Amino acid sequence: MVDVTLIGTAALAPIPGRALSCAFLTCGGHSVLFDCGEGTQSAARKAGVSLMKTDIIALTHYHGDHIFGLPGLLQTMFSAGRTEPVYIAGPEGLFTVMSLISGLTGNLPFDVRLAEIPADGLRLCEMIPGWPYECILSSFPVKHRCIAQGYSFTLNRAGKFSPSKAQELGVPVTMWKILQKGESVFADGKEIQPSQVLGEKRRGIKVVFTGDTAMCESLTDSAEGADLMICDATYGNDSEAEKATERGHMTFSHAAECAKIAGVKTLWLTHYSQSVTDPAIFLPNAQKIFPESICGYDGMSSTLRFES
Ligand SMILES: [Zn+2]
Ligand SMILES: [Zn+2]
Repeated sequence: MVDVTLIGTAALAPIPGRALSCAFLTCGGHSVLFDCGEGTQSAARKAGVSLMKTDIIALTHYHGDHIFGLPGLLQTMFSAGRTEPVYIAGPEGLFTVMSLISGLTGNLPFDVRLAEIPADGLRLCEMIPGWPYECILSSFPVKHRCIAQGYSFTLNRAGKFSPSKAQELGVPVTMWKILQKGESVFADGKEIQPSQVLGEKRRGIKVVFTGDTAMCESLTDSAEGADLMICDATYGNDSEAEKATERGHMTFSHAAECAKIAGVKTLWLTHYSQSVTDPAIFLPNAQKIFPESICGYDGMSSTLRFES
């Protein structure tokens, strides 16, 4: 199961009740924070989320509204006595940005490790000690005014485990979990592959966070079949479509169009311009194209579960 919380939903500048766009995802006691604008810490606290044990901070790009909270968050992790490494991911330019941020934070008592997230994804259980499930974090390029990327998080679901097949093959019960995780084991003098004891792969859970972007094919391709897409919806009016595209953003309708093309289950709109004082007014613009569109708000959360 995957829990997702929208920490903030604002573009450019925070306003009362609306922190800068940011989302937090947890799975099996581990977590990924997507973007970290100014005020993320207090907004997270308000949303009832602790960021102190975040494993990966995945930055979509380096505009201030997405990163200015990072030095403060690292500093608070220090004060909270963190010793485990934290991974920071981002598009090209990450090394330069993190050099500047480390100039602000000074030496930290934990490792800050820079991570490239390739398009075909990283297996988090190989990267983060103790990550319990088969989860893949991937990046994809988006269309903004600077180099930017979105992220796709997938919790894979293995096929149904067959205890009788495992017993037949002489695999001790203590090794069953390893096979269920998709790794091979040595038992009875031979290597046993997961495919020998697992049925056909089942549908997992997929969450996509776009960051700032105009409509683009790499987004709709990467979001294909996602359970949840958290998407740039900076402008509410359809009349602002041209302006949105020029500025590397989307309208509510654009976001809905992307959700429809990608065939996602649910769309959360976020990253609202200050002109969108009440997102609900513009929601019909999205719902007429994609009925499962929802206006995100600070603190909104959802638990995504495997289909039975
Ligand atoms: Zn932004
Ligand atoms: Zn931006």
